[in-house]
Amino acid sequence: MNKLACDVVVIGGGIAGIQASLDLANMNYKVILLDSGPSIGGKMILLSKTFPTLDCASCIATPRMAESTHHPNIKILTYLQIVSIDKHDSSFEIKILKKPRYVDESKCIGCGRCSEVCPVEVPNEYEGGLVPRKAIYIPFPNSLPNVALIDKENCIKCGACERVCPVKAIDRNQKQEEVLIEAKAVIIATGIDLIDYSKKIEYGGGKYVNVLSSYQFERILNATHPYGHILRPSDGKIPRNIGYVLCVGSRDLNWGVKYCSAVCCMYSIKHAIMALHHLHDAEITIYYMDIRTYGKGFEEFYNRAVKEGVKFVRGKVAKIEEDPETKDLFVYLENFDTGKVEIRRHDLVVLAVGIVPTINDSALFKAKLNVYGFIERKLIDVDPASTSIDGIFVAGTAAGPMDIPDTITSASAAAMKAALYIERKG
Ligand SMILES: Cc1cc2nc3c(=O)[nH]c(=O)nc-3n(C[C@H](O)[C@H](O)[C@H](O)COP(=O)(O)OP(=O)(O)OC[C@H]3O[C@@H](n4cnc5c(N)ncnc54)[C@H](O)[C@@H]3O)c2cc1C
Repeated sequence: MNKLACDVVVIGGGIAGIQASLDLANMNYKVILLDSGPSIGGKMILLSKTFPTLDCASCIATPRMAESTHHPNIKILTYLQIVSIDKHDSSFEIKILKKPRYVDESKCIGCGRCSEVCPVEVPNEYEGGLVPRKAIYIPFPNSLPNVALIDKENCIKCGACERVCPVKAIDRNQKQEEVLIEAKAVIIATGIDLIDYSKKIEYGGGKYVNVLSSYQFERILNATHPYGHILRPSDGKIPRNIGYVLCVGSRDLNWGVKYCSAVCCMYSIKHAIMALHHLHDAEITIYYMDIRTYGKGFEEFYNRAVKEGVKFVRGKVAKIEEDPETKDLFVYLENFDTGKVEIRRHDLVVLAVGIVPTINDSALFKAKLNVYGFIERKLIDVDPASTSIDGIFVAGTAAGPMDIPDTITSASAAAMKAALYIERKG
């Protein structure tokens, strides 16, 4: 078993984990940053632009990812599973299983020639399944590490990748590797997932091809977008009439989660403004219960959307139906302002899907979870980075839905608390 030691283990390499690692490393603490996925970057690196400034998300995230990768005080391990976290007197022991990539990380130069020749195509999870990827692939354009991996379940072992790899990095004999890390403190930054929208069967997500999740639409709007333009999946037609349904699974006592997912109103407004910038004459309607624009510049961003022509309709969408021939969609809603039931036609419908925590295993992560399954903060008002366990801290959306600025603030708070904890233990 491989053994490593550091001051702080940060679990989760999204923007929260990256920020906490950089803050600690710049204070001269040794950090090991762990991510279960094959690349760091989390959700932010896959976003298009950020509200309310419409800054390019990857232009902000990529330099931070690169800085953490090259920082002498940070070691990054990806594509792994946390097996256990045990607390001893003054330290933690974190056991991980590093999964085999079947590509030697130290040799791969990220040229992508292996993917070009691979004959197997499966849905690309990073593009919301809208386009395919190969069985050997680099997760997304600015992945870090920029290294390929083989999806063993779908690989047909044809040998095409081995034949073209210029550095002979393919290694089918790789085995999973156990690593034991000793650390003085732990930061949990495991982030968020989206609710499975296909379970809201009345809305037809996952069934009607032109009903997309907000994540899928986020990818379509991205500069590296899967289609190269905004179009609808069924026929490649440019949508002229897009419907946006808010609170899909959030604030829903019957299905989904009870709480507000905090970012959906704002990212939906962002999507609407961006879509209008691409499709000047399109009609974009947002169906909502309330618009929650609570942050700096948020209300102004909403006003901008109204001014630029986005239509806001206060109402509750009951169901969505598809015209089987045209694949157009009919949205059935109760309009709260008129009190009437309406049916409206759209080329494309986007569902603003609610947010849930990625972890549900408090036994593994040790720290107590709150009623919604996020890591419980010790004292939310005055000590939001501490958890129920001394020496384990929480950063970013692992503690609950929040936007990127709040995530960064929370990550820096967790880094500072971890540093104070280490110094106190001295
Ligand atoms: C569609 C959409 C659009 C958005 N648009 C905006 C926007 O415009 N502006 C804005 O401010 N916010 C936006 N947000 C919110 C933003 O994405 C989050 O605030 C931010 O990504 C949170 O970062 P994080 O690091 O806390 O979590 P994440 O980005 O979720 O990162 C968590 C990381 O932890 C890793 N991980 C998970 N479980 C484990 C485990 N068990 N072990 C090891 N690693 C693990 C994951 O692989 C991931 O890399 C949007 C969100 C969505 C869904």
